[in-house]
Amino acid sequence: MIDETDVQAVLEVLHAPYLTQGPRVEEFERAVAERVGAKYCVAFCNATSGLHCAVRALSLDEGTEGITSPNTFVASANCMAYCGMTPVFADIDPRTYNVTAETMSARLTDRTRLLLPVHFAGQPCDMEAIGALAKSRGLRVIEDAAHAIGSIYADGTPVGNCRHSDMTVFSFHPVKTVTCAEGGAVTTNDPDLYRRLVLLRTHGITKDPSQMTSPSPAPWYYEMLELGYNYRMTEMQAALGRSQLKRLDAFKTRRREIVAKYNEAFADVPHMRTPYEAPGVSSCFHLYAPRFDFKSMGLTRAEFGKRLHSYEVGWQVLYIPVYTQPWYERTYGVRRGLCPEAEAYYEETLALPLYPKLTDDDVARVIRAVRETIEGKQP
Ligand SMILES: *Cc1c(COP(=O)(O)O)cnc(C)c1O
Repeated sequence: MIDETDVQAVLEVLHAPYLTQGPRVEEFERAVAERVGAKYCVAFCNATSGLHCAVRALSLDEGTEGITSPNTFVASANCMAYCGMTPVFADIDPRTYNVTAETMSARLTDRTRLLLPVHFAGQPCDMEAIGALAKSRGLRVIEDAAHAIGSIYADGTPVGNCRHSDMTVFSFHPVKTVTCAEGGAVTTNDPDLYRRLVLLRTHGITKDPSQMTSPSPAPWYYEMLELGYNYRMTEMQAALGRSQLKRLDAFKTRRREIVAKYNEAFADVPHMRTPYEAPGVSSCFHLYAPRFDFKSMGLTRAEFGKRLHSYEVGWQVLYIPVYTQPWYERTYGVRRGLCPEAEAYYEETLALPLYPKLTDDDVARVIRAVRETIEGKQP
């Protein structure tokens, strides 16, 4: 969904004085904060670095635990491992495919310090309940909203406002709803977390005399206060993101239109369950991931997918439960069977094409491909 205004926005930067982190990054941060209703926003070179700094900013002790979803990209859990914490996995709700306050409660120990819910496919978790759980146990909360820019919580407010969390992390990778090519952002309402995120993004270095440990003797002087990173966003990335963000409402409208068409067409199709949207929530659907009962269909998922390919319909499978990854098994010794709902979901899921550029004809072709494959017809 790169259009000519996006191209122009990026080209302009190449004639401007700043190439990396400058006024366009600040403008993008203001635009994201405003859009999601948060006080502060810090842009990062991707969401993974944003997640890393979000966990670092909380200064939790090594050896403590954070609870996240297994139905996510590995980065949601890796950020805790980077900081010496142990990622712990709570099962998903069988309808929303999100973690809940109940499933997270079942994983609490005296070492738990952090809850890291993931808004899978764009549908926000029940943050009111998760926030209440965190408050009652003195836990911190980071929302992984990589899928959920433009989504609305059940209380009618935008994802990212951090009403029930410390920080929210967005991704602007090209597969996500709004892209910077690579990019991420962390929103927060807490000025101390904001200051730490800014510091960690750039080597832990500050040039702000009010933050220094000794009076600044000269204008070139800076102090390194933390062991930080180089996780900056470039001006080109920010310009692309700013331009894309202006079309978020249009992207969301078209995504929801396509989802409605799919849901209607697939409502009566056997061996298939369309995605559920919780009451009050408005998902800016990042994925359209129905469940298929491949067993009762008498097809393997690979065979099913191959038939879709013969209609020139692409698809993807998301997500392999994170704790079943070799590194996780080796490092934490977690065994299969830990999260039965997430494992059952993984066996049955297959995501169909969903992006605003899909035409009604494309959508009709996807519908036909799925129906005919389930009916056992050949193209
Ligand atoms: C894409 C994604 C990330 C990582 O985003 P990057 O910007 O590629 O680092 C993290 N969490 C989830 C749920 C994602 O889908």
